[in-house]
Parts: sequence; C-alpha cells; structure tokens
Amino acid sequence: MHSKVDPAILDETRLKALRETRLLDSLNEEQFDRLTDLICKLLKVPVALVSLVDKDRQFFKSQQGLPEPWKSKRETPLSHSFCQHVVSRKKPLIISNAPGDPLVKNNLATTELNVTAYLGMPIKSPNHEIIGSICAINRIPHDWTKEEIDIMMTLAEFTITEIRLRHELRTKEKTEYKLRKANEDLKAFSYMASHDLRAPLSTVIGLIHILKDEQNNGVASDKAQNLIKRILMASKHMSQLISDSSKYINITNEPESISFEHISLKDPLEDAINNLDQVIKENNARISIPEELPLIRGIRSLMAELLQNLMANAIKYCREKPEVVVSTTETNGQISILIKDNGIGISENCNGSIFIPYKRLHSAKEFNGNGLGLAICKKIVQLHSGDISYQSSPGKGSTFIVKLPQPKNPVDNR
Ligand code: ADP
Repeated sequence: MHSKVDPAILDETRLKALRETRLLDSLNEEQFDRLTDLICKLLKVPVALVSLVDKDRQFFKSQQGLPEPWKSKRETPLSHSFCQHVVSRKKPLIISNAPGDPLVKNNLATTELNVTAYLGMPIKSPNHEIIGSICAINRIPHDWTKEEIDIMMTLAEFTITEIRLRHELRTKEKTEYKLRKANEDLKAFSYMASHDLRAPLSTVIGLIHILKDEQNNGVASDKAQNLIKRILMASKHMSQLISDSSKYINITNEPESISFEHISLKDPLEDAINNLDQVIKENNARISIPEELPLIRGIRSLMAELLQNLMANAIKYCREKPEVVVSTTETNGQISILIKDNGIGISENCNGSIFIPYKRLHSAKEFNGNGLGLAICKKIVQLHSGDISYQSSPGKGSTFIVKLPQPKNPVDNR
C-alpha cells in the first residue's frame, strides 16, 4: 500500500537505478550467496539477506535462513521489511530488540517472522542511489558490537563493488557492440560503394571515352571538348575517391586478426618505387634510398602502400625538380623511417590535421587529391603499433617520420 510507504522508497530516480542493476527477480548467484553465508558464519546469526527494496516489496537477491514461504518466494511485502528503513533513512539500521523499538515493533517481520535483532547496511547503485540493504538478523535480542558493525560495512562495500563492476561490464559490452555494429555497417557501405557505385562509374568513364573519340573524328567545338575533359576528370576523381575510401575503411584496427611477418624494408620500398614509376618519370623526380635497410615486422602490401603514399606526396607537393631522400635510423628498440622532400612544406597552423580523413590544405585546382593518403598512412602505422609525424618548414620541404617497433625475434621469421 503506497499510502504507508516512505516517499524516499518511491523516488523515481532510485527505482530507475534499482531496475538498471537488473538484479530484481534475477536468479540466485554464487557471488551474493557467498556473502550471506559469510555473514551467518562471521556474526553467528541464523538469517542474512541481500535485500533490494522495490516500491511495494523487498526482493532477496540472496538469503540464508528464512522460513517458508518467504524462502521460496524470495520476497516479502514491505509490511515485513526492516530493510525499507535503511533505504528511507539513507543510513545503517541497528536494532537490538525489535519488540521494544518504536520504529519496528509493529512491523510484521517482528511479529510474524520473529526478527528480533537487526543490523542492516545500505547497498548503493553505481550512481549512488540506495537500492537496498545487506543485513544480519537474530531471533534473540542482541547488542551488535563494533566489530560486527565493521564486518557488515565491509561486506556492504563488497556488494556495492560487485554491482558496480557488473554495470561497468555491461556498459563496456554495449559500447563494444555498438562499435562492432557501426564498423559492420561501414564495411557494408564500403562494399556497396566499391562494387555497386564503381560499376556504373566505369561505364560512364568508358562512354565518355567513346564520346571523346567520336568528337575527335567529327568537328567538335572547343567548348564540347573542354566539357568532355572535365567530365572525365571528375569521374576519375570520384572513382579514386571510392577506392581510397573503401581502402581506408577496410584497413583493420585489430592487429590480433592479422599475421605479421619479418620482412626487409627493402621489399615494400621497392614495390612502392615500382608502382610510382610513371609518376617519377613524368615529374623527373629523383629518389634516393639507403643501401642497407632494416628488418621490420609487418605486412608487405600495407607497408608498400604507406611508403608509396608518402613518396607520391613528396613528389606532388613540390614546385621544382623533386628530390626525395629515404633514410632510416635505429635507436631504443625503435626503427625510424624518414622521407624527406624539397617541396612546398606544410603550414604551421595546420596542427597535424593533415592526418584526418578527407582533410586537405590545398584545393583540387592547385594539387589534385582527396585527402585520404595520409589518413590511410596513419591507420597502417597504427596497425603496426607505430607512430607517424612530420617536420616541415614552409617553402623548404618536409620530412615525414614513421616510427616502428624493432622486431624482437627476427629469427622466427615465419
Ligand atoms: P591528398 O594529397 O590527397 O590531399 P593526403 O592525405 O595525402 O591527401 O595529404 C593531406 C594534405 O597534407 C595535403 O592536401 C597536403 O596539403 C598536405 N601534404 C601531405 N604531404 C605533403 C608534403 N610532402 N608536402 C607538403 N604538403 C603535404
């Protein structure tokens, strides 16, 4: 009956916190049963409870020594509850002799369940609402000692910690589930983009080529030719954007799911230079690489992608004959790969934003690109447990520095 229940018991925030623990009407659990068992043994009492005080009942998450039918029901109405007073008064309740105590002498627990001495400590939810009580009960009068009170306080702390840990675990699982779901959605989108969007785009590019040839055969106006050229460029840009976006999304964040190998840095570096062959020739660029290159632990194709992106930028962001110098150093268990250019440099106030996906410091008119190259580099480096940074003086060139952990057992190269 609500009219007799203390307003603190009916407080909505408290009841919400209680429901959120998901302990109401849950099964018996060893962690809580061990606590009530311990109370009975340490305090030498016949009854111990972990009681959660709901709006019209107390539910026993754990109980020792209750008579039937309460033992099987695992709850009583509030008419039979001392624990409700721990909640409403927001503090421990210490009763030595219930029949002589004005607060509880008419409580049905005193008259029907023979509760005589009671020692109850508040149990709090993770957001500090008092949701119930952990208590020791004696059927004969008893003056609770300081030691007994201290033991109950400690056991209440254990109960609170157990409830908090469960809450944290649930929150973590929920966040992980959401992240996994978002990642799956992103991958599905990237799959759709790279297949379903690219196919019609390739058709468009093919058709524009045919149209261009047709125009070349006939008498096409300069304006028409210019328009065709621009459509072609925009389509190629879009196609590159789709493939780079899906490349970015598909580089995993989970090193555990990948088998790394010990490889010489020479291999991915040569792959990168071969892939850039045309760009190097077109720009008359000079690339110098050291004779000796260290062994690293990584994935060859991704390392090649990383070096290729950095060298391509070194060539692209340059207004004179590009000179790219690759060097390496090894110190303190760490390998540094330096890619130095003689390009335009990077403005001081960009604050490292160049590693953010789609972030560009230049317009497409100045330098072609989509702002994904360095974001891809960063993801690759992070997957290899490394770090990427740069040093630059505007107008004088930049040096990109990739730091990787030195491989531990190069002999286990499998
Ligand atoms: P994109 O080259 O497609 O724009 P990136 O992610 O590779 O994308 O680079 C992001 C931005 O960083 C570029 O727009 C450019 O402004 C700057 N940048 C990258 N590398 C260099 C470099 N070597 N020299 C000068 N600026 C660079």
